[in-house]
Amino acid sequence: MTDAGSSFCPECGDPVDSAGGDGATRREQSLCDSCYFAAFDLVDAPDTIEVMVCARCGAVHRGNRWVDIGADDYVDVAVAETTEALGVHLEAEDVDWEVRPEKLDDNTVRMHATFTGVVRDTHRTEQVAVTVKVSRQTCQRCGRIAGESYASTVQVRAVGRDPTSEETDRAAELAHRIVADMEATGDREAFVTEIGDAESGTDIKLSTTKIGLKLARKLVEEFGGDFEDHETLITEDDDGNEVYRVTYAVRLPEFVPGDVVDIAADDGGPVLVQSNHGNLKGVRVTTGEPYEASFEDGDSPDARKLGAVTDATEATVVTVEDDAAIQILDPDTYEAQTVARPDYVDPDASTVPALKSRAGLHVLPDA
Ligand SMILES: [Zn+2]
Ligand SMILES: [Zn+2]
Repeated sequence: MTDAGSSFCPECGDPVDSAGGDGATRREQSLCDSCYFAAFDLVDAPDTIEVMVCARCGAVHRGNRWVDIGADDYVDVAVAETTEALGVHLEAEDVDWEVRPEKLDDNTVRMHATFTGVVRDTHRTEQVAVTVKVSRQTCQRCGRIAGESYASTVQVRAVGRDPTSEETDRAAELAHRIVADMEATGDREAFVTEIGDAESGTDIKLSTTKIGLKLARKLVEEFGGDFEDHETLITEDDDGNEVYRVTYAVRLPEFVPGDVVDIAADDGGPVLVQSNHGNLKGVRVTTGEPYEASFEDGDSPDARKLGAVTDATEATVVTVEDDAAIQILDPDTYEAQTVARPDYVDPDASTVPALKSRAGLHVLPDA
C-alpha cells in the first residue's frame, strides 16, 4: 500500500480511514466502526444501588459520611444516586439522558434510563435499568437534633431593660444565618437546637461552641454592649475527655440609638443617643453639641431614659427668639413656650419634632 493515510483494523483487518476521538484508547482508535461498536457500551451502570437516606433530612450516606443532596423525595434520591453511579463513555459527545422512575415499593425505585450520544459521528441510543434500594435511617446530625444536643447557649440580655423584639428577632435571624453559612460549606455539625424565651430575654441553644461565640460577637458588633463566657463541665466522652458547655452571656447596652437620656452628674442637658458602640455618643438636645461619655464614666454613664425619638410630636414654631432660644407650642396644651434652641434647628422651619418628658420640652433633630 502506498496510501500513507490508511491503516487496518487490528481486529478484522479491514482498512480504516477515520480515527476515533480523544477519549478512546489507541487500540480503540484503530478499530473499524463495526468492531468498535460491537464492544461499545455508551453507559456503564450498576444493576442495583443501595442507598441509606436520612428519613428526617433527606441526606444520603456516601462513602463513610452523610451528604446533603437537597432531595425532596426518594425518587430524587434515586436520580441523584444513579447519576452518581453512572459512567458515560469518554468518547461520547452530546450525551443526554431521560429517566423514567418506576416505584416498585416504598423502598425500591427502578430507574429506566435512555441515553443518547454521538460517537464516531454516529448517533447512539442505549437503555439501562438500575434498581435503587433505599433504606431509611437517621443521620448523625438529625439524631443529635432529636436528642436536643447543644454545646453552647447564647443568653441575649440587656442592661436595665428587656431586649427589644427587634434585638431578639435579629439574634434568632443571625443564629440561623451563621448556621446556614456553615451548612453551605458542607458543615453538618452546625444547627440551632432551640430558641426559647427567658425571663428577661432570649436563650439560643446551638450545636457547637463556635457558633455561640460567633453569634455573641456578631450581636455586640451590631448592637454594642459586651459578653462574658462561662464553661460548665457536663460529662466525659467515651475517650475520657471532658466535655464542656459554654454559656455566652450577652449584655446589650441600656440605651439604644434614638433614646433621649438624662445623664446623672452632668447638667449639660439631655442627650439624644446616636451610638452605643464602645462608649455612649450622642448630641445635646439643648445646644446641638456632640456628647461622648468620657473614659471615667465607663462605657455607659449613669443615666435615666426620658423618652425616644419615636415619642416626639411635631410642634408649631411661634418664633425663633435668638441663637439659644425658640418659642414653640406645647404639643399637649398648645401654650407658647420658650425652650432651648439647639443649633440643628432650621430657622425657617414651621414645625419641629419636640419631646415632652419629665425634664421638660426639648426640640429633637429632624428624623
Ligand atoms: Zn474491524
Ligand atoms: Zn438527617
